Amino acid sequence: KMAGRRRVSIFGAQMDDAIQNRAAIEAELREALRTKTGLSVVYQPKYAIDGVRMLGAEALVRWQHPERGPISPAVFIPVAEEANLIADLGLWVLETACRDAMDWPVEHLAVNVSPVQLRSAGFAETVFAALAKVGFPASRLELEVTETDFADAEEIGVENIKTLTAAGIAIAIDDFGTGSSTFERLREISFDRIKIDRSFVKNITESEGDAELVRAMISMAHAKGLKTTAEGVETAEQRDILRSFGCDELQGYLLGKPMPPTQLIQVFGAGLAA
Ligand code: C2E
Ligand code: CA
Ligand code: CA
Ligand code: CA
Repeated sequence: KMAGRRRVSIFGAQMDDAIQNRAAIEAELREALRTKTGLSVVYQPKYAIDGVRMLGAEALVRWQHPERGPISPAVFIPVAEEANLIADLGLWVLETACRDAMDWPVEHLAVNVSPVQLRSAGFAETVFAALAKVGFPASRLELEVTETDFADAEEIGVENIKTLTAAGIAIAIDDFGTGSSTFERLREISFDRIKIDRSFVKNITESEGDAELVRAMISMAHAKGLKTTAEGVETAEQRDILRSFGCDELQGYLLGKPMPPTQLIQVFGAGLAA
């Protein structure tokens, strides 16, 4: 069968493989979602600027494929979006995360939302139903949406955000600084937090320009009453600069990598005992 496919076009073989590969990933993801096997949720801790107090955790989905091994969400989330699987996958992540985080001594649980979910009618109601099902309080949930999503967001996305925030759910703008038309949206919708993209944090110690940009983002956010989280903090130098800029929250490998819930509970244990 393989050889037959390859005979179709020698020049197109590579592209053919990519398409086949994508189709296979789609079918396998559909199956994984149906049987709930190979999928899991890990949590990356989010710390106060002191680097000691854990304020929250971000849920990140993982897929361990039986033959291919771990597949990055950067690969399979876009597939899920195109294959109409993102609503189911996103809901599964949300319910799993709320269940896991029910008794955690943190202020908020952050869950990523795809623009495809955000733009679908009834998304806010789906979130409310999931919270009710699990018994997780709306006031402890934070949804992370990407800045670029707003550039082309239809009104329905804006409506969903307004309905969600009215119910006490916080909204964070993920990867802040990488999109284009946030400022316009900032006038229209009230967000709760910006998450400064890792690409800025990465350069903060080397580039004075980037450091100035980050400082400006933080003061702009504070002027608008928004909290700030720096993503991808990997070094103590980065942490110290962010601290001097008055950033509110730190997230990154320096403080903690994404980990399974059992491991995160051990981190709390240590924090609570300290
Ligand atoms: P994101 O939301 O910006 O998540 C942060 C990514 O940066 C995560 O990658 C995390 O593991 C990684 N990261 C955290 N700290 C550091 C650091 O100090 N250094 C470096 N180099 N990386 C760090 P991950 O888990 O592979 O997720 C990639 C992207 O996939 C996420 O980016 C998010 O856009 C998407 N994603 C993950 N889980 C979900 C989900 O449940 N739903 C949706 N819609 N998207 C998801
Ligand atoms: Ca995120
Ligand atoms: Ca991010
Ligand atoms: Ca991202």
